[in-house]
Amino acid sequence: MAGNIFGTAVYYDADCNLGALKGKKITVLGYGSQGHAHALNLKENGMDVTVGLREGSKSWKAAEEAGLAVKTTAEAVKDADVVMVLIPDELQAETYEKDIAPNLKKGVYLAFAHGFNIHYKKIVPPADANIFMVAPKGPGHLVRRTFTKGSGVPSLVAVEQDPAGDTMEIAKAWAAGIGAGRAGILETTYRQETETDLFGEQAVLCGGVCALMQAGFETLVEAGYNPVNAYFEAIHEMKLIVDLIYEGGFQTMRNSISNTAEYGDYVTGPKIITDETRTAMKNILADIQSGKFADEFLDDYKGGFKKLYAEREKAADHECEKVGAELRGLMSWLK
Ligand code: NAD
Ligand code: MG
Repeated sequence: MAGNIFGTAVYYDADCNLGALKGKKITVLGYGSQGHAHALNLKENGMDVTVGLREGSKSWKAAEEAGLAVKTTAEAVKDADVVMVLIPDELQAETYEKDIAPNLKKGVYLAFAHGFNIHYKKIVPPADANIFMVAPKGPGHLVRRTFTKGSGVPSLVAVEQDPAGDTMEIAKAWAAGIGAGRAGILETTYRQETETDLFGEQAVLCGGVCALMQAGFETLVEAGYNPVNAYFEAIHEMKLIVDLIYEGGFQTMRNSISNTAEYGDYVTGPKIITDETRTAMKNILADIQSGKFADEFLDDYKGGFKKLYAEREKAADHECEKVGAELRGLMSWLK
């Protein structure tokens, strides 16, 4: 039954009413990572699901072959009682203006798997629309795979607009419908989900970790060490450590490493994450909170993603990527 983890309400299947969604016309826009998982899991839970795609979309055939009804985005939104927007964040606002808003039913439930466009007001739905979020804390392929094996991925739910008065019930039904009620459905807000998600991926998971590994590699190579050793020690072995943290937190990881490594961990970590780094983290968070980062990202998208593509090319060209590719060639289990 419903519980509470550090002030966050948690719901399970027994707390959710799938019947709240049954008989409603459900539309899932997009059939990518999240889209295919939500659409198929809900369909297998007996829901009336239509997938909305662009004309000529490569996914059209795949969705039809999986037994789903497929329509163009605009057609799929007409008559839908619940619309879940699972298209890339940077495309959502223009798709909303062009194909979604003109076709929304009065009193519709409109949902997202990430709060970006609603929180930063890039999409401003009408007052009669009910706005909720179901954000699985894992990629869509895991949402699908765990569902078919009888479990699920913990998911966040939030309600931003609730003129109907039952939007949280619909959100919980959706989350349970994709399997999250078997794992845990955690209640949050659009603001919390959006700002912590962006901060995590920028400061820690993607930006922070990749910059740290690359700087470690460069430091060793610049000091004259072999790039092969540098790659193993500063990049490749990250997975061993992260897997242990994933399984049992920092303590499990520290139980498995040598005392030498553990001692070095305690005395060296604070020399890397200095007051200067913490100030940088606070500034990154401030730019997320003010919407500066969101505007920067969308401006780059509108200019043809010049910065994104240039950075992607520069990163692919770095020596560490070439060393890594060679070394992975020695690892039969990766093939
Ligand atoms: P994706 O890139 O895997 O798939 C996007 C899909 O949208 C594709 O099928 C594409 O053909 C389709 N599409 C593009 N334009 C369209 C349009 N105008 N009409 C209809 N379909 C259109 O995207 P994703 O990673 O599944 O992300 C979808 C949403 O889920 C985003 O808001 C993202 O932040 C969120 N999310 C993703 C993950 C993840 O792990 N991938 C996890 C949680 C939340
Ligand atoms: Mg995230």
